[in-house]
Amino acid sequence: MLNDECIFCKIVKGEIPSNKIYEDDDFMVMLDIAPASKGHAVILPKYHAENIFTLPDEYLEKVLKVARKCSAAMMEVLKCDGVNVLQNNGEAAGQTVFHYHMHLIPRFNGDNVGICWKPGTADGNDELAAKIREAIK
Ligand code: 5GP
Ligand code: ZN
Repeated sequence: MLNDECIFCKIVKGEIPSNKIYEDDDFMVMLDIAPASKGHAVILPKYHAENIFTLPDEYLEKVLKVARKCSAAMMEVLKCDGVNVLQNNGEAAGQTVFHYHMHLIPRFNGDNVGICWKPGTADGNDELAAKIREAIK
């Protein structure tokens, strides 16, 4: 189920060109047009869902296997030292394209790719953990 207005759906359909590195019945993987590091790739389900909350389970269950398969090949080809596997949901979290996707970002020792945060304080975590536990269905 694709969406005519969505740029990633257009890429999946081949209406917009991309540097594809992998494809199967459910996913395609392409190199990012504005990479955080050399070889940065993006996994796209062949199903239009805005984010992790609306992506059907069958895709969620498979996406990490695709991530591992592609990352392993990228590690081999790029000779990188590590890889970030990450995924943004919502504008506040950095999402700019609202078709679920997973980033594979090759990392090289000493690179300055900015995926980091300043450690904060855990005040209130006892109560917070209890509330979230209760909310989990
Ligand atoms: P987000 O910020 O939503 O997590 O990630 C969207 C990613 O898609 C960005 O890294 C951006 O560079 C990439 N992107 C956006 N448009 C295109 C495109 O037309 N082609 C490719 N290959 N990547 C794109
Ligand atoms: Zn889409």
